[in-house]
Order: sequence, then structure tokens, then C-alpha cells
Amino acid sequence: MEKKLIIFTDIGDTIIDETTEVRKQQYGVVYSADCIPGAKETFLSLYQQGYRIVMVADGLEQSFRNTMKENGLDHVFSEWVISEQLGVEKPNALMFETAMGRMGLTDSDKKRVIMVGNNLKRDMVGANRFGIRSVHMAWSTHYPTVASTPEEEPTFCIHQPTELLPLVDRLEKQLEEKASV
Ligand SMILES: [Mg+2]
Repeated sequence: MEKKLIIFTDIGDTIIDETTEVRKQQYGVVYSADCIPGAKETFLSLYQQGYRIVMVADGLEQSFRNTMKENGLDHVFSEWVISEQLGVEKPNALMFETAMGRMGLTDSDKKRVIMVGNNLKRDMVGANRFGIRSVHMAWSTHYPTVASTPEEEPTFCIHQPTELLPLVDRLEKQLEEKASV
């Protein structure tokens, strides 16, 4: 059965460990990188369970093509929404509007969507302003992990990728219960 919950996700320091990124030049294409421990297993599991997963990421498209292929995750994404394609970065609403549009989702579907990301100013602010629920992946310590404005406050907070599995399970059950009332 098709899942009700739809998962938008960031990549850098949410799935990929940015400290492992290999580039030939500064700010250039990423040729290789490792996943955060548990991230690959988590996203493969979500995909296998039937969740639709959308990449909403800032960076160069070729970087994501390289690192997702390298880590065996390139098939899990229904859509790849990348800042290079659109000319804007998160928290710009165009990133989220594009993801919704490509998935055939409308405003009434916003309650079914979560945005997973590590960056409070980009991922949390972007999702919160857009009106979808935000999940802060507070694994990396390279960026601030405490909200400095109300807009940066995540709806949910997790500290490693595997914690996404029980959270998604809980949110899916809530949506199914609402639908059956
Ligand atoms: Mg990130």
C-alpha cells in the first residue's frame, strides 16, 4: 500500500558526511564521499517500505549523482531538486514548491510532508516557512545545533539517521488514523 507520508531530505551532513567529501577544486564537484553511519541503511529501508523520498539539496547536480551512485542510493529518490537547477538555495520557497510540483502535490498535501535536514537556517527555516514539518538531523557539529530564532525551531529533532525510522513509522500511523476517521 502506498505510504501517506512523503519525505523531503537534504544530503550534506544529513545523509553524506561532509568531512569525507573529495573534490578536485574548492567548491567544485564532489567526486566521492561516505555516508553518515546508518544513513544508507535508513534510506534504503524507507525506500523498501514504500516511502516516496525527494532530494531537496543545495549544491551541484553532478556531486549528488556521484555520491549517491557511489553509495548505492541513487534509486531511492523520486525526484532530485537541486539548487544548481533552480538558481536559488534553501530556505527559498522555490526549492520546496518545485519538489511539491514535481511530485504532483498541492497545498492540501503539506501535512503529509516532512523535511529532514541538518541546517537550521536552510532546512528548518525553509520547511517551517513553507508550512511543512521539519526534522532536524543533529548529527554533525559543524553547524549550529540550537535554534537562534523561532523560525529555526524544528518540529522534531533526531541525532542520528536510524532514529528517522521509528519517527517516520509514528507519523505514518498518525496520518493513517486521521484518514480512517
Ligand atoms: Mg546539509
